[in-house]
Amino acid sequence: MALLHALATRTGSGALFVRSITDTFACEDKTRTTMIVVMKQQATDEMIHSVAARIESMGLKAHVIVGTERTVIAAIGEKRDGEQETLSSLEEVDKVVPILAPYKVASRETKSEPTVVRSHDLILGGGHVGVIAGPCSVESEEQILESARQVKLAGATGLRGGAFKPRTSPYSFQGLKEEGLKLLAAAREETGLAVVTEVMTPDHVSLVGNYADVLQIGARNMQNYHLLQAVGESDKPVLLKRGPSASIDEFLLAAEYILDQGNAQVVLCERGIRTFETHTRFTLPLATVPYLRQRTHLPIVIDPSHGTGVASLVSPMAVAAIAADCDGLIIEVHPNPAEALSDGAQSLTPAQFADTMIRCRLVAEALSRSI
Ligand code: PEP
Ligand code: MN
Repeated sequence: MALLHALATRTGSGALFVRSITDTFACEDKTRTTMIVVMKQQATDEMIHSVAARIESMGLKAHVIVGTERTVIAAIGEKRDGEQETLSSLEEVDKVVPILAPYKVASRETKSEPTVVRSHDLILGGGHVGVIAGPCSVESEEQILESARQVKLAGATGLRGGAFKPRTSPYSFQGLKEEGLKLLAAAREETGLAVVTEVMTPDHVSLVGNYADVLQIGARNMQNYHLLQAVGESDKPVLLKRGPSASIDEFLLAAEYILDQGNAQVVLCERGIRTFETHTRFTLPLATVPYLRQRTHLPIVIDPSHGTGVASLVSPMAVAAIAADCDGLIIEVHPNPAEALSDGAQSLTPAQFADTMIRCRLVAEALSRSI
């Protein structure tokens, strides 16, 4: 079983059939239960707290999810006889519904209205498309400031840039680390853009959180559960990238690790998966957008840069992602891609990015979405 799982997460297309077997194992645990306790519409804060306390006294974890119409409480934990009946009989409770999806707090069954994640002027979700743009890596003060000015001018509201870089080769540029974070913060000071940057280890969460507005979990770390729990304890929104060999259920369960720690501001990012195809760096499955939309209330962002690895393919895929109804884009832009220290081949020039934004806006407007 451990071997099958290792195969499934570390290899490419050859492991697809293995993954479906492990998913079946991963999702079934008959000793655990998740129920959604739907409060009566007129329930007061006091009543909600009292039901949450009752759930906890039964040895279950209570996640209060406040909606515009009513509040629900997800009760998660060890299965015991009579739990559902006990909770249904409480006066403040309307009904109790068992959640069948393996992911619980992320599920649309738990919360039907979309989650909207906001930071400065960056809005992801709820009919608004947020665009995050900037270089793969922060390289110098001049490079990040110039990138920030240009992407802001073209209409981005978020600035990306890696200070801690997860590089495939240990000999490649590893990022400017804290110095890079300081430069990102300076770029935010000047432009007002929300800073999105990667955190690679649990002990860096507070350092990165001191400078960043949104913590990025890279594709390579999607199943680094201690890191997911650490960002789950942070008060910053988290942009979670899909692992290149992770199934959608595994992706949503990774999000669940963050949500389970109490951080409700999770954004899902499709950045391409490993397939047999070699024309593009990864294969970018845009069906992820409508599929996730049906299953989760979390915002869905597309990364056409890593998803294709080829600058000339980025703009068409960005436009297609908007047509597929995504909540945001994250795009690599560099003042001089030929000189970039990482991912130059997939980075747009500022002019190409401005043109991409014009085309994205046309599609967004045609679909009555703001961008
Ligand atoms: C990045 O955003 O530069 C990055 C490393 O992305 P990913 O984790 O998707 O490979
Ligand atoms: Mn990159």
